[in-house]
Amino acid sequence: MRLLQETKQIMNQYHITANKNYGQNFLIDETIVEEIIEHAAISKEDFVIEIGPGLGTLTSRLLEKAGKVTCIEIDKNMISILNNRFSMYPHFELIQNDILKENLHTLINKNLQNVSLKKAKIVANLPYYITTPIIMKLLEDKLPLCSITVMVQQEVAERLVENPGGKATGSITYCIHYYTNPKIVLTVPNTSFIPSPKINSAVIKLDILPSPKINVKNEAFLFKIIKCAFMQKRKTLLNALSNANIAEKATLEEMLNHLHIDTNIRGEKLTLEAFGKISDYLS
Ligand code: SAH
Repeated sequence: MRLLQETKQIMNQYHITANKNYGQNFLIDETIVEEIIEHAAISKEDFVIEIGPGLGTLTSRLLEKAGKVTCIEIDKNMISILNNRFSMYPHFELIQNDILKENLHTLINKNLQNVSLKKAKIVANLPYYITTPIIMKLLEDKLPLCSITVMVQQEVAERLVENPGGKATGSITYCIHYYTNPKIVLTVPNTSFIPSPKINSAVIKLDILPSPKINVKNEAFLFKIIKCAFMQKRKTLLNALSNANIAEKATLEEMLNHLHIDTNIRGEKLTLEAFGKISDYLS
């Protein structure tokens, strides 16, 4: 209740209505906030990047726990609110930018030069209209991160943590399992936000692996093959890859036989390791 009142009061004071174009759904459930903070396991040795702080609900708790918190927010209406609330804290930094345009390498490396900050972590209630591009950026940029703890739509969460080859597998599933150890740590009802989204949400935690789960000769090629397989999900892997001109059909058939993979299999049924073998065979 306290958080609901506080959120409404801030919105009234600054004449804010949630901007749908920016995917704004503000958290109003303090139990959920506490659980996110707990799962993210933040300490004073941590440099935390918060994506889309909004009115600052998570930010306020992150500032109590972390050594440094840098928030990246696109909406200028939020910027003045956040500055009024938190600019008195020396360990608070606010960047007005689109997260997809921010150079996170530079930001993290600069902050980890501070000897008292040992690990970089991402914590966020993500804007849902760009969940996938944000997660892909965080992983593919190979940032020196320790973990990513983020709220996403429940359905997306299930796809992200699914074992590759399982029912909800999407091409991003492979990327997640290549770079991280993923798990759903919390399911969150839609009533935990204002405005309340149509669907429920979930918090996932991605622990970044010290090195990728499998070793391949050509990582870019591996992900190209996976993307091609999923662009034509209903087709067999063989047809999807030959339509995408990855190789001649005969070569692909020979490869599948050589690797003891059923030539009628669809890409979504393959494990990460199988895609790794295919990628190595063809590269
Ligand atoms: N963390 C807040 C708000 C979550 S809503 C809370 O939990 O209550 C998502 C937030 O992401 C909004 O503040 C929105 O303005 C911000 N946002 C949307 N698109 C963004 C982008 N491209 N880059 C950075 N922030 C973005």
